[in-house]
Amino acid sequence: MVCKVVVDFSYLEAKLPKDLVNVLEIVYTHNKWRRYETINLIASENVMSPLAEMAYMSDMMHRYAEGKPKKRYYQGLVYVDEIEIKLMDVMGDLFNVKYVEPRAISGTIANATVFKVLGEYGSKALIAPVQAGSHVSHTKYGVLGALGIEHIELPYDAEEMNIDVDKAVKLIEEVKPKFIVLGGSVYLFPHPVKELADAAHSVGAKLVYDAAHVLGLIAGKRWRHPIEHGADIVTASTHKTFPGPQGGVIFTNDEKLYKAIAKTVFPVFVSNHHLHRLPATLVTCYEMKYFGEAYADQIIRNARAFAEALASEGFKVLGEHKGYTMSHQVLLDVSDYGGGAKIAKLLEEANIIVNKNLIPKDPPTAIKNPSGLRLGVQEMTRWGMKEDDFREVARFMRMVVEGKDPSEVKKKVIEFRKEFTKVHYTFDVDLVKIDSSEKLPLLW
Ligand SMILES: *Cc1c(COP(=O)(O)O)cnc(C)c1O
Repeated sequence: MVCKVVVDFSYLEAKLPKDLVNVLEIVYTHNKWRRYETINLIASENVMSPLAEMAYMSDMMHRYAEGKPKKRYYQGLVYVDEIEIKLMDVMGDLFNVKYVEPRAISGTIANATVFKVLGEYGSKALIAPVQAGSHVSHTKYGVLGALGIEHIELPYDAEEMNIDVDKAVKLIEEVKPKFIVLGGSVYLFPHPVKELADAAHSVGAKLVYDAAHVLGLIAGKRWRHPIEHGADIVTASTHKTFPGPQGGVIFTNDEKLYKAIAKTVFPVFVSNHHLHRLPATLVTCYEMKYFGEAYADQIIRNARAFAEALASEGFKVLGEHKGYTMSHQVLLDVSDYGGGAKIAKLLEEANIIVNKNLIPKDPPTAIKNPSGLRLGVQEMTRWGMKEDDFREVARFMRMVVEGKDPSEVKKKVIEFRKEFTKVHYTFDVDLVKIDSSEKLPLLW
């Protein structure tokens, strides 16, 4: 099976304006390509299970809710309230936290909300530097800057590929920031939460951990739980290693902070919070409850095996002296092959989807052609790939950088990808029956 729905485009062409059919064709072609024919190594992406997709494609996507469950500004939300309350409950259990705020519609909105609660125009925040993987929302170019909060970089230890703890503690004591942000978009090793939490608290600062990338690893207990290590607040996306719908979430155990967060996310940063996300996120919570440990475990094994295989295929893989990676990511330095921009493009021609990325040796100005590639194994792990499969992917990648015609490699990739068309780490139910009798619009 390649696509669930075979669309009869000649029938549609007879009935619909040509331009409209073209729109459907583009979407269909995208789905077939990205979902079933490419090896997706974008570290911030994932796929929902068909079960979660079923919950996602509901009438809730058409409805409006402002405010908190049972205290809405609109009628018609009896069932939405039920789902939202259950989500806060189940997610709280899954992550062992008291308060869950699920209304942030993305990780960026979660950060905006928390930064607004903790800082004000002119206050200072100490944040991981770009080399340590900070996200654009942590910088003057993103929501932090829009709120007028000053970004002061935490010191970086190039050897450890992490924040320099001793220097960071000194800087915290010196600057006395309002808050500190750890966690990032490009990192192989966990940031030192425990080490910095005490220093933060001693000057009255809060420690925020941005778990956008690693939320699924935390659910699967393969990444240090930031709150258990002293963080006051966690922000995250719900669609990276946590394989739910695109969205955001905020956790805390602090009642006062939670109340401030709940009062800020609405009305400041969302009015409606995209309600169809909620049941799909809830389904994903159950999947992570039952399969999260096995999933996170396989992600970690695959990332390690992939890094080792890439190194033995001749790639420069970062972090060798530290065992390459502890996350879902692998970082390559491809400057010897012409740089990240060129190689990412060539790999795309071979149906291997990656993104170019700055690596620690790059100046921030190298953003258009950085030396690196960031690879993430979480999505292909969800499609069922194991260590040996990633060794095969490393071989495909070598063929491309060694100058083999990418269109030849692409044929091999499409053939290889046919073995991985089913989403793993979910409940084994046959939704096709429901699909055909009820005509639920599951993804094509
Ligand atoms: C992806 C990411 C975000 C933003 O999340 P969106 O859901 O894309 O808005 C925030 N922080 C970090 C560290 C990220 O990697």
